[in-house]
Amino acid sequence: MDDDSFRAFLTGILSVAVCLILPAYIAYSSREVPKKTVVKEKSNSVSEGESSSSSSSKAAERSVSDTKKPSSNSNNNKESFNKMSEEQVTQGRRATEAQGPSMDMNKKQIGGDSFVQRTKNPEWLKTRNDIIEKIKARRAEEFSSKKPVDITVTMPDGNVLDKQKDGTPFQAWKTSPYDVAVAISQGLADASIVARVTYEKYVDDYDAVQDGSAGADIMELEEGHEEEDTSSEDKSMLWDMTRPLVGPVSKLEFLKFDDRDAKNVFWHSSSHIMGEALERLFGNKLTVGPPLANGFFYDSYMGKDNLREDDYKSVEQEVGKIAKQKQKFERVVITKDEALELFADNPFKVQILTNKVPDGSRTTIYRCGDLIDLCRGPHIAHTGKVKAFAATQISATNWLGDTDNDSLQRIYGISFPDKKQLKVWKENMEKAKERDHRRIMAKQELVFFHELSPGSAFWLPHGNRIYQKLIEFIRKQYWDRGYDEVTTPNMFNLDLWHKSGHAMHYKDNMFCFDVEGQEFAMKPMNCPGHCLMFDSRIRSYRDLPLRLADFGVLHRNELSGALTGLTRVRRFAQDDAHLFCREDQITDEVKAALEFMKFVYDIFGMTYKLELSTRPKKALGEKELWDKAEASLALAMDEFAGKGNWRVNPGDGAFYGPKIDIKVMDAMERIHQCATIQLDFQLPIRFDLKYTTDSKEEGKQFARPVMVHRAMLGSVERMFAVLCEHWGGKWPLWCSPRQLMIVPVHARFNDYCETVRAKFHKAGFYVDVDTSKNTFQKKVRSAQLAQYNYQLVVGETEETNQSVNVRNRDNEVEGEIKVDELVEKLLTAVAEFK
Ligand SMILES: [Zn+2]
Ligand SMILES: [Zn+2]
Repeated sequence: MDDDSFRAFLTGILSVAVCLILPAYIAYSSREVPKKTVVKEKSNSVSEGESSSSSSSKAAERSVSDTKKPSSNSNNNKESFNKMSEEQVTQGRRATEAQGPSMDMNKKQIGGDSFVQRTKNPEWLKTRNDIIEKIKARRAEEFSSKKPVDITVTMPDGNVLDKQKDGTPFQAWKTSPYDVAVAISQGLADASIVARVTYEKYVDDYDAVQDGSAGADIMELEEGHEEEDTSSEDKSMLWDMTRPLVGPVSKLEFLKFDDRDAKNVFWHSSSHIMGEALERLFGNKLTVGPPLANGFFYDSYMGKDNLREDDYKSVEQEVGKIAKQKQKFERVVITKDEALELFADNPFKVQILTNKVPDGSRTTIYRCGDLIDLCRGPHIAHTGKVKAFAATQISATNWLGDTDNDSLQRIYGISFPDKKQLKVWKENMEKAKERDHRRIMAKQELVFFHELSPGSAFWLPHGNRIYQKLIEFIRKQYWDRGYDEVTTPNMFNLDLWHKSGHAMHYKDNMFCFDVEGQEFAMKPMNCPGHCLMFDSRIRSYRDLPLRLADFGVLHRNELSGALTGLTRVRRFAQDDAHLFCREDQITDEVKAALEFMKFVYDIFGMTYKLELSTRPKKALGEKELWDKAEASLALAMDEFAGKGNWRVNPGDGAFYGPKIDIKVMDAMERIHQCATIQLDFQLPIRFDLKYTTDSKEEGKQFARPVMVHRAMLGSVERMFAVLCEHWGGKWPLWCSPRQLMIVPVHARFNDYCETVRAKFHKAGFYVDVDTSKNTFQKKVRSAQLAQYNYQLVVGETEETNQSVNVRNRDNEVEGEIKVDELVEKLLTAVAEFK
């Protein structure tokens, strides 16, 4: 589960400038992170063209490894928990943090004999049910005084609805999003997972505190986490389909499973269902169970017992049973005292409640069937929505991720609203395993690693062909798109990194060393060097935009234990470029970068989604500048993708500027964040960059450029790994390291083979001749297995006709063709990136 926990090293990175910005994968580190300083990675990690900082895409990457590597009961536990609480951010919110007395935190083992042995349908399920019924009665009485007043609901297309099909008016406290959906169509109501609601206002008798909706999420157990970002303009919230509305709605959206938020709700809800199964089957003491980018897990306490792979089947059957019962997810507001009574049998929930819920305050629980769980929701309407479920993995972990605490059992699951989707998911997981780039690069002899230089790839001749081809591909685009390529130093005096801000918080991730008594460091990114270059002479407004591209080698000091294949390395290069432009040029520059990105990913055969991450709470720089910049980015995205075809991540920008996250999807439907476009107002200030304007007015003769960091591939190393898995090692002709294998049917045609080889070689193809003693059938077969795109068989006829007989690696015979003609044909194919 290491991949997963990219987290934390971002510790305190907040005040650092730009491009600290570590790729999520690089961001991972098994370094101990001081607990107090762990922050949500959210707004401050940014990647220069590599992985994303937003929780979803981190989780997405994470999910890949979830299925690859069973997490172990190792030192990673702390991280797993951090990760979990971070994921919890989107869903499952609970009440505010407590100010009252804390439970004795010195007592490390709290589980005790709350679980002694596996017990089917334990007695406490019934006790808990009885208590909740009493609480429900109390609440029903309290809420019976609420006045249902008529409300209107505005749909995203502007349509205003106010009554059901039978003419019953929509009313606060009565009408739910489900009812509104039914008023439109039953199909819509059934397909919707959750609603996204923006209230015009609340009705007078709605009180968020009384309703248990106030406050932050107590599930963010990590101390010192950032507060919820409230600066965002977006006031929408996810709302259970079946929860009555509490005011007129200015925008109501129905989210289906393909929506990211809906998936989250779906998997979050599935995790409750899995928890219910664990309670009913074995009497596990549940702790926390968040959704992931691909699935979910639930941690629970089983004393000395543990979950085993042969438990999968019974868990799956139980979940199936629960789904068949279509148990409603019921929301109940409870007081802290009621909650303590309700969860008296579960020391973990008691600890959460005691330490995180202020005395006298309210929180919410959700109930489905026998399960009652502390949760802020929202959830799916009922358990029957989960049509397919699989338990995927188990591992051990510790309460709160601390190895001194009780050992917990973690079980992972995946679920879908449709059986077919689970089948596809399983196939993709299988495929991903087979396509692991580490496997392919060893098999095809592309790359190797040596313990004498951990995390730094040795690019073998065939691997290097691909590596260089990717760079060449981008370089050609630079030529067409008005970039200037530059080469800058690899090591700098630390003074540079003090100026850029990296030395302060990022130094641990840099390789530093002494040079003639002064401290130097290998560059982890190109930006500061490019700032020096910008500043090396006077720049005029006419010189802008200045687009400096650099394939320079970068080094980041990853712990050796954290290195994996080409996805987490110490040495890598990016297709990095910095665009220095005027404010009025932002839209055009960003639009051009987006078009560049489209060009690249269309060729790779990957689809992508765009997200705009806006001003975080702790942003540096004038709000006005941010607003202007965000508007420029939004305009560029509208012009590029069309209105409504991209989404906003409010408050998720880097602290130094807004950014566009580009999420690309590979052949296994995994999300990667490789390309990035980020605006930066801070680095130009730190380096005091300026250009001369055309103004004669005093004080306006100079202006500050805006810097755009952008990368299309991101790390070339990582993109190589992504493409390797995306294509499954079947490199398309244009970037294949083994394009043609000439196969003589008999040794007497060897000379002719050489003539043919020379022709293709001259035309720039990677071509080999198999002059071994094998039969020609065997030669063809082994060339196919080695992924030669084409096998050119030659014999008597071919020599006479100056031709070859062509097969491709899928063993389809394409037939005889003149050599010159084939050269032309293949050159065309390469030029078209076939
Ligand atoms: Zn929940
Ligand atoms: Zn940069």
